[in-house]
This record gives sequence, C-alpha cells and structure tokens, in this order.
Amino acid sequence: MNKLWNAITEHIVAPSRLTADQLLGLLTPLGRSVHLRRHAASVIVARVQLISALFAVLVPLWAVVDVWVFDTRTATWLVLLRLASAAVFVALAWPREISATRPYTQAVAMLLVMLMVPPLFYLVSLQIVDPVGLTDSQRLMAQLYTFMPTIVLGGLAIFPLTALEIVLFSLPVLGAALIGMTSGGVELALDQHGAALWFMLMMMGVAMFSGMSQSHYMESLVHKAMTDPLTGAYTRRSGIEALELMFRLSSMSGKPLAVAFFDLDHFKAINDAFGHEAGDQALCTLVERLRRSLRRGDVLVRWGGEEFVAVLPELPADQIPAFLQRVRQAGFGERPDGTPLTASIGVAESIADGVLDWRALVEKADQRMYAAKRAGRDRAVLPGEVTVPL
Ligand code: GH3
Ligand code: MG
Ligand code: MG
Repeated sequence: MNKLWNAITEHIVAPSRLTADQLLGLLTPLGRSVHLRRHAASVIVARVQLISALFAVLVPLWAVVDVWVFDTRTATWLVLLRLASAAVFVALAWPREISATRPYTQAVAMLLVMLMVPPLFYLVSLQIVDPVGLTDSQRLMAQLYTFMPTIVLGGLAIFPLTALEIVLFSLPVLGAALIGMTSGGVELALDQHGAALWFMLMMMGVAMFSGMSQSHYMESLVHKAMTDPLTGAYTRRSGIEALELMFRLSSMSGKPLAVAFFDLDHFKAINDAFGHEAGDQALCTLVERLRRSLRRGDVLVRWGGEEFVAVLPELPADQIPAFLQRVRQAGFGERPDGTPLTASIGVAESIADGVLDWRALVEKADQRMYAAKRAGRDRAVLPGEVTVPL
C-alpha cells in the first residue's frame, strides 16, 4: 500500500517523495506558512487579473455574434448581460495592491467572483433565450452557453490551489450547472444529464491534480528561496518579511509578539579545535533542537553565522519562562568533545517592552543577548532585565 502510494505521488503529483505533512499541505491550505500563503496569493491575483483582462475584451466582442444570430429583443438582453459581465471583469483586472495583512483572503475573493461570472451568465441566459422554436444556429449558441460551468471547472486547473479549495470552488459552479439543467421543471435524468455531470466531475479531478502539483512545485521553490541551505531555518531576508507581517498582525489584534535572540557561546572554539565541518554539524543539531521547543506557528530565523532568532506569536511575557523551560529541556546539542553547547539568549516581548515596530523588538532582544554574554554566558535575559540561568 505504502509502495503504491509512493509510486502515485512520485509519478503523478511530484517527482519526489511526499511527507505526511507535505501531503496535508496539498489537501488543505490551513497549515501553509505566511510566505507560502502570500506567494500563492500573488500568483492567484496575477492570474485572475490576466484572465479578467482578456475576458473584459472578448465577452463584449462576442456580442456581434448574438446580434447576428438572435432576434433584436433576445440580442439586446444578451448584449446587456455581456456588458454587465465585462464590467465585473474590468473591475477584477483593475490594477491594485495586494493586501498586506490578508493577501490570501483577497485572492480567494477575487477568484470566486471571477469563477461565478460565467455560470451566472449561463443561468441568466436561460431566462433570456426562449428554447422553443430556435433555429439551428441559435440552438448552437444556446448550447455553447451551457458549457460555461464546465469551462470554469477546467479553468481552475491553472491556479495553485489545494484539493479542498478546488472542491469548495467547484460547489457553487456545479450548483449553477444543476440549477440550469433542472430549469423549466426538467427532472434530472441520467441519460440526459449524466454525461455532462460526469464530464464536469472529470474536469474537477483534473483541476485538483493540476492545482496540487502546482502547489507542491510552488512550495518547493518558495522553501528553497526562503530557507538557509545548511540548517533549513529561514534566511534573514525571509525572516524579516515574516517578522514585519507578524508584528503588524499582532499589533492589529492587540496580542503580544515575542522574539528570542540566540547566540552560541564560544562557538568559534569548535571551528578552531575540530574544523569548520564540525561547526556546521553543530549548527544543524542546534536548529533541530531549537525546533523541538517551538510551536507550529513559530518561525526560526538564522539571523547570521551562529545567531538565531525565534519569532513567537501570542507569547506573553509571563509565559517566557515556560518557553525557556522547553528550550532548556531540548538543549543546544553537544560539542564534538561531548560537552554540552550553551547559548546566551535575549528575549523581548512587544507589549511588555512597549516597542512600536519589529526592528525595536529585535534590537531589544539583541541587547539582552549581549547582556547575557557580559553576565557570563549560558543564561537568558528577559523583559524587565530579569536574568535566568540556563
Ligand atoms: P561568544 O559568542 O560566546 O562571544 O563566542 P563565539 O566564539 O561564538 O563568538 P562569535 O559569536 O563572535 O563568533 C561566531 C563564530 O561563528 C565565528 C565563525 O567562525 C563561526 N561561524 C559563523 N558562521 C558559521 C558557519 O556557517 N559554519 C561554521 N562552521 N562556523 C560559523
Ligand atoms: Mg555571534
Ligand atoms: Mg557566539
């Protein structure tokens, strides 16, 4: 079973083994990191805008065909419907900034609006075009409109979405298609509607695979760009991005944001006595240990050399000792000679320290880390300049 699963994920979803966590990340968007969310949002918004711009031109142009094929009354209504749809597409394509705090919500809302235009167009067209006594060309046009929900489902394939999102986005589209099929009191019948429904579900399946593999590809690119290749911690640049956003979110919600600054003690001595490789290995072990004391939403940043910053959202000053207890339990690893590695830590917390931006928060933690060094290393300095031995 495991082998079969690996073969499927490897050959269809991505040319690499998926861990359970990665797979979960492809099924639902819930566990996505701030960076991935923002990146996915900008890809989605860019694509929605491109397609909307294209449709803003094509949809009204097609009015020529309506005028040519239908009688004046029907054509007038269809042209008005086209202009209304084009107005929505213009609004979506209009240049705009991506929201700094809720980029993903914005992207999803824009996508949903765009997806609903063709199915709604189809439903309204059913009210406009009288099915009785249509000529062949008129019937062909009316049939083309019935394809709109299916085309939308296929179109979902170009977005880096997770499986759950594809299902959620498909539901209103499928609903519109079902309403259309049963309009005028028609009963849903397998022989009449089965093929169309089957085709729509297949489109949804294709979109799901495509969306998941795009998400996976995007995730690996974002991961490579954001993390330090040696330790896997965030690079300073991406760490600052996360800090900026997390600070803004925490001050908006009035919740605390804590930052812990770690600097290993006498680290240079490892390089000098055992070589650079041993130093590198110690850094990897350190990150693995630090991760044990972090929660799911915490972010670990390699600030430079052997200095790390842990960003800890919603950690109030009175819970910092509990955090340090977890750090103490996990330890920092050992030197090649077997003696434990130690670190000096400075912790700052946005509310307790009354800081106004992330820079001041990190600076405060950095100053306390130096205070811990000066006080003899292997200790932490907390808000209120309380010194705690490790
Ligand atoms: P202390 O902080 O206790 O004052 O002493 P220290 O020896 O740790 O001093 P400092 O923080 O100034 O030195 C950092 C050393 O970390 C210098 C550099 O050789 C080493 N270092 C920085 N980055 C790396 C790395 O990627 N790999 C290895 N092996 N060593 C690194
Ligand atoms: Mg240092
Ligand atoms: Mg050091």
